Amino acid sequence: MDAPCTETGNKRKRETANQQENNSQEKRDGKPFKFRITGIPMRDKVRTLFYQVLTTTEERKQEKQKPIHVTVEEIEEELFKSCDKETGKDYQERFRSLYRNLKDAKNASLREAVLSRTILPKDFVVMTPHELANPELKKEREQLRKESIRESKKSVDTQTFSEEFQCRKCGLRKCSFFQMQTRSADEPMTTFVTCHHCGNRWKQ
Ligand SMILES: [Zn+2]
Repeated sequence: MDAPCTETGNKRKRETANQQENNSQEKRDGKPFKFRITGIPMRDKVRTLFYQVLTTTEERKQEKQKPIHVTVEEIEEELFKSCDKETGKDYQERFRSLYRNLKDAKNASLREAVLSRTILPKDFVVMTPHELANPELKKEREQLRKESIRESKKSVDTQTFSEEFQCRKCGLRKCSFFQMQTRSADEPMTTFVTCHHCGNRWKQ
């Protein structure tokens, strides 16, 4: 079967062009990734994984506005540079830590910050495991803080206010008190008084 010469020629040219493109791009779902490959298999694998973890199907569609492949290239480039341009143990361990955190559904804020470049690639690759986990930890700490405020408010509510006590510091009778057995059971309880005007505390 002989096709006309020119068409075959054009086709060959197109195929050659495609071939070259394929050589410089990894393929996935039949569509090429947009980032440049480095020729070092380990580095290209890392770029592919960073790309996959940072993109959803929707995000890949929006790539014209949001060039994720540029961020991916920069992340891998900075990671490579920060590991003395070696793809050894340091590079691989650092990659795994970054990747794990990007993939963690609980750490969506990190992923968002990397995508929006609130955290720049050069800063991202040198983040410690603690810093990487921070958004989640921060949330937990915030939760604990809120709970402790709630608890302390609750304890104010259950404290007894009494005009019986006069603050020696400010002279007002805006005190609450609670009693506790601090010594042996047969002795009277100790009364702890807090002035809610000036914060003065004493026991009697
Ligand atoms: Zn007072």
